[in-house]
Amino acid sequence: MGSIKKRILSGMRPTGRLHLGNYVGALENWVKLQESAASATAAEVFENFHLIADYHVLTTDLDTSAIYANTIEMVIDWLGAGIRPEVSPIFRQSQIKEHAELFLIFSMLITKERLERNPTLKDQVRDLSMGETIGYGHLGYPVLQAADILIYKGEVVPVGEDQLPHVEITREIARKFNTTYGPVFPEPEGRLTQFARLTGLDGQAQMSKSRGNGILLSDPPPEITAKMRKAVTDPQKIRRGDPGRPDICTVFTYHRKFNPTEETEIRAGCESGQLGCVDCKMRCASRIAEFLAPMREKRLYYEAHVDEVKDILNEGEKRARHEAQKTMADVHNAMKLGEV
Ligand code: ATP
Ligand code: MG
Repeated sequence: MGSIKKRILSGMRPTGRLHLGNYVGALENWVKLQESAASATAAEVFENFHLIADYHVLTTDLDTSAIYANTIEMVIDWLGAGIRPEVSPIFRQSQIKEHAELFLIFSMLITKERLERNPTLKDQVRDLSMGETIGYGHLGYPVLQAADILIYKGEVVPVGEDQLPHVEITREIARKFNTTYGPVFPEPEGRLTQFARLTGLDGQAQMSKSRGNGILLSDPPPEITAKMRKAVTDPQKIRRGDPGRPDICTVFTYHRKFNPTEETEIRAGCESGQLGCVDCKMRCASRIAEFLAPMREKRLYYEAHVDEVKDILNEGEKRARHEAQKTMADVHNAMKLGEV
């Protein structure tokens, strides 16, 4: 039985080291889909393209001084998690001019009102206390993202839940282009995991790099323990003996993902009051540390071989540029731009 081959396009902003939310919401899925080709029975196999969304950093922070260092750190996190650049190119948005070109064309195909209704924008403005005014580029965040996805004719976009509204806008832009100028683009679908919006240690908002409320993939075990100690749990469970409500507890969510074999026992202990929050947290911290150990190990190698990381970017950018140029030729043909 032949399997269907699909192109994946997914990226992240180089705004700092990655956290567990990035991993369980997106990165873990990238690796799983990347390895689909190894399964003889897979109905779909995937070709992954992974983008470093460095222009997207500017939507919320004009300071560019940390972008390069953050890019290297992020690529190391990707490699540590199992992205294999020889099959899955890794590249920076800013190094492939065609992204900006397609962004410009796409910005003609969507209204300002549609972009203002984007719930992810509203959440971001609230979470980062950005006030009332929004930059023109920030409003256009999903338009640039549509260009990032569609310039590679991406069909599957494995992302966290906050990104789904952007995938929807991408589909709308693809449809609008295709009906106006001819069928050039696929309508990509978002793919979520079971943990598509992992809550941060503050229990308040989704774990995010810019809020600094996460456990990092690179955190050493003592750091994980220290962060876990401060994690917010059920506010009604004040001391050991008080019954807790695991379903509203962030730490319990982490147990579900990283400690599934003890989930039932932890739930029962919490609900009965026999398990105190400190013990519960320490058990969770050690499972997470075990889970992350192989990634930290792999990280160490790349930290000592940054030149390899730079080569990976160069190679990925060559491959990505080639694909992007082919699509722009299709776009110009469909739009009859440049005809003599
Ligand atoms: P920033 O705060 O700079 O926006 P971020 O932590 O939100 O950083 P992004 O680079 O915006 O990370 O997102 C990278 C990917 O990780 C996206 O697919 C996003 O949906 C996913 N993601 C981010 N945070 C979470 C989370 N808490 N739970 C699940 N997925 C997440
Ligand atoms: Mg984000």
